[in-house]
This record gives sequence, structure tokens and C-alpha cells, in this order.
Amino acid sequence: MPLIALEDVRKRFGENEVLKGVTLRVEPGEVVAIIGKSGSGKSTLLRCINGLETIDDGSIMVADAKLGSSELQLRKLRLKVGMIFQQFNLFPHLTVGRNVMLSPIVSKKAGTAEAEALARVMLQRVGLAHRFDAWPSELSGGQQQRVAIARALAMQPMALLCDEITSALDPELVNEVLGVVRSLAADGMTLLMVTHEMRFARDVCDRVVFMHQGRIHESGPPGEIFNRPATPELRQFLGMIE
Ligand code: ADP
Ligand code: MG
Repeated sequence: MPLIALEDVRKRFGENEVLKGVTLRVEPGEVVAIIGKSGSGKSTLLRCINGLETIDDGSIMVADAKLGSSELQLRKLRLKVGMIFQQFNLFPHLTVGRNVMLSPIVSKKAGTAEAEALARVMLQRVGLAHRFDAWPSELSGGQQQRVAIARALAMQPMALLCDEITSALDPELVNEVLGVVRSLAADGMTLLMVTHEMRFARDVCDRVVFMHQGRIHESGPPGEIFNRPATPELRQFLGMIE
């Protein structure tokens, strides 16, 4: 059974139909890259999956729960699916450890000791256990993004959605963040990531989905998508000469 299943999902903003019937299944432990031009609907797709946006038509299932539009359902869904953004948005007035502890305390009603233990484990996982008491401003962008990953992991999500999480980083900091994602993938985490890192998508992902004008235009194993793109749109996106 897929962990995430989208069936003919449609989403519009006013007159602008941004998702024009997207069907996608992600199996447990699968690592899927979403590529495509700016404006093709990649972020909207992720935001619909974790309930930050409601959908106009179709259905989204996460595990066995159908995504309806009631606030309660959306809130439950967000607890199951973690999301990491381009901007890390750590709370500047909280230490690294407190940033990671916050969600379990607020959303899962974890006690302080339990949340702290969990935060230490998750910071260990991203290689930052020793920065528990540091302030976000003392960390590099790459380290801050790794804390954001630990913060998402502290909710013990069934899947992680990553939206261009290395795009705001200086080039020399990209690899430390991708390294963490790579290790999560190796541990069996289900990942759905919008990325411009084609090399990474080729090396780490099980499947690549190419979005074009609100639709999944092509999808397949990285070898196929990158070496034998079937459509002119994908060839153009990949910078291949027509
Ligand atoms: P991508 O992530 O592939 O760049 P997006 O999903 O961010 O694409 O955007 C797809 C389209 O939806 C764009 O035309 C964008 O302007 C529009 N859009 C996204 N979010 C909103 C919003 N909250 N309100 C209105 N239009 C939006
Ligand atoms: Mg986007």
C-alpha cells in the first residue's frame, strides 16, 4: 500500500489552475525527486500533501487517512508528514535544542524531559548534538538547515517533504545538507523532494517526477529521465539541444 497517494488532484488560485489533475503514489521508503521549471506547481503540490493548502478536486491519502478539508484532519495530517523549506525559519530567540523541542511539546504534548531526549537524538542524527545550547545565529546556513531537519524529525513523521532545501545556501554548504538527506534515505525514510540538484536526484532518488504546467509530464527511474527523456519539454528543461 502506498504511503502517499494522490488521485487526480486539482488546485486553483482564482482563475489560475495550478494543479491540473495530478496522480502520484509514493511507497514507504521510496525517495522521489520532483523537478520542473519555476511556476510548474511543485511547491503547491507539496503544500497540498501536508495540508498547508486545501485542494479543489481529487483526493490525497496519507497512510490510511484521506485528506479532507476540515481543520482537525489537516492538523492530524501535518503531524504525519514533515516539511522542510528553502528558508529554515528557526526561532532566533530559542536555542537550537529548544527549537527542536518545541513541536513535540506544543503538538504532541510531550513532557520537557521527553522532548529534550528526543531533540538530542534528532540533533545527533543531523550531526549537531554538540550545538544543543547554541543560538541559531551562531550557526552557518547549512547547520541551521540541518537543525530544521532535526526539528521536522522530532515529530517522528512518516514521510518528509523537502522544498528546495538547499536553494538558499552558499554552494559550499549544500553538500552537508544533502549528506543528511542521503543518510535519511539510507535509513528508509520516505522522501518527496523538490530539487534542482540533478546529480543528487540521479544518485539518491528511486524515481524522478517532471512537472510541467501543473501536470506530471514524465516520471521514471533517474537513469531513464536523465538519459532518455521522452518529451521535448523535459529535454528542454534538462538543457539538451532539440
Ligand atoms: P513551483 O514551486 O513549481 O515554482 P508553485 O507551486 O510555487 O510553483 O506555483 C505554481 C503557480 O501557482 C504559480 O503560477 C504561482 O504564481 C501560483 N501560486 C502559488 N501559490 C499561490 C498563492 N498562494 N496564491 C496565488 N497563486 C499562487
Ligand atoms: Mg517552488
